Amino acid sequence: MNEADSEEMLLHLFGFGYQKTEVLSEADLVLINTCTIRDHAEHRALSYLGRLAKWKAEKQGRKIIFAGCAAERLGKKVQKRFPQADIVCGAKSLDKFPEILERSSLFKPVNTTENPKENTKKITGQVSIMRGCSCKCAYCIVPYVRGEASSIPPEIVLENCRNKAQNYPEIMLLGQTVNAYNYKGFTFSKLLAEVCKIPEVKRVRFLSPHPVFIKEDFYKVVQDNPKIARHLHLPLQSGSTKVLKDMKRLYTAEEYLQIIKNLKRLDFLISTDIIVGYPTETEEDFKRTLNLVKKCGFSFAYCFKFSPRAGTPAAEIPEISQEIVENRLNILLNEIRECSAVAYKSRIGKTEEILFETKNSGRTSGNLWYRTTTPKAIGSIEQILIKDSNGKILR
Ligand code: SAH
Ligand code: SF4
Repeated sequence: MNEADSEEMLLHLFGFGYQKTEVLSEADLVLINTCTIRDHAEHRALSYLGRLAKWKAEKQGRKIIFAGCAAERLGKKVQKRFPQADIVCGAKSLDKFPEILERSSLFKPVNTTENPKENTKKITGQVSIMRGCSCKCAYCIVPYVRGEASSIPPEIVLENCRNKAQNYPEIMLLGQTVNAYNYKGFTFSKLLAEVCKIPEVKRVRFLSPHPVFIKEDFYKVVQDNPKIARHLHLPLQSGSTKVLKDMKRLYTAEEYLQIIKNLKRLDFLISTDIIVGYPTETEEDFKRTLNLVKKCGFSFAYCFKFSPRAGTPAAEIPEISQEIVENRLNILLNEIRECSAVAYKSRIGKTEEILFETKNSGRTSGNLWYRTTTPKAIGSIEQILIKDSNGKILR
């Protein structure tokens, strides 16, 4: 989501005569697009901003924009603590970014007919289809910094997809609860079907779906559209129904497992997000998570230690000891590594559809990595028989 937002801001900056560079010493402007999902993410962004004071002082005219979710959460406090930030633009103000630049008097729009064009073929084109989130997960700051969910009109989404498809064979639809997409009755499943109709689109992915919004019509649209990748990143958070209830996740462990079973019948691989050390998580609850992880057979998982975010209900509950959390995290990470190796090895002997991201490597529809010594065209799709896997890559 942040990458997609950064790209949007970048396009506006092109209109002010800027071009992109990754080399700090060459830059006249640094745009820091921040995350605040956990304290650690915000801390990293702020310490980077702190370090940039020196860079800014080294040459006159250098500017800094501090944007995104941490900017939204901290607001004016950022400039107070870090006067080197010229502009602080919170996540909710993304739509107003060009006006904010114009108003600041630091930036002058230029009349350029030649926007810097992307000349290299990339693989995944990201398209935001909704903003914000209307779920109220008890630990999560997203609804506070990004606001209520709102779906972007399908005409705009599809136009963006058609444009992206000129350069990117794979389209990734983005939203905090991406499958809750609904624009005046135009549902997520309908949108998926329409994106698949774009001839240049070879593969469609989306991030992040929420289990509660998976309905029958989703299974149907998947079966009708082979372009939809057979991979779902479906955040679980906890395998204990009690903790899920405390978290306000709106599904039980059994319901989650049922979805996984339905998806596996359609040959999906599933990855997930899990939070360890939620303040109400007991040893029993954690064991339930481990158990469910085994049953689900995830191909991959992001495991996070619970991070209290000020203003969320979960931050009010006393935390459990870091030592216990650390210990649970390590046990979980080991379990996930094993599951992942099993997922890779389960593909040996199968024919996989590989989308090549380099001449020698690419990803399967199920989102596993593949490598070959026979070079292929970047961006091409090939059906390939998998001969071997070390549990980390297919060959
Ligand atoms: N909208 C997506 C997830 C967005 S946030 C969903 O609900 O599925 C990405 C992940 O960050 C979450 O899935 C969760 O695992 C993690 N996360 C969110 N808030 C957190 C917190 N306070 N502490 C630790 N992890 C958190
Ligand atoms: Fe946060 Fe995702 Fe829950 Fe929304 S659905 S509140 S983004 S964890």
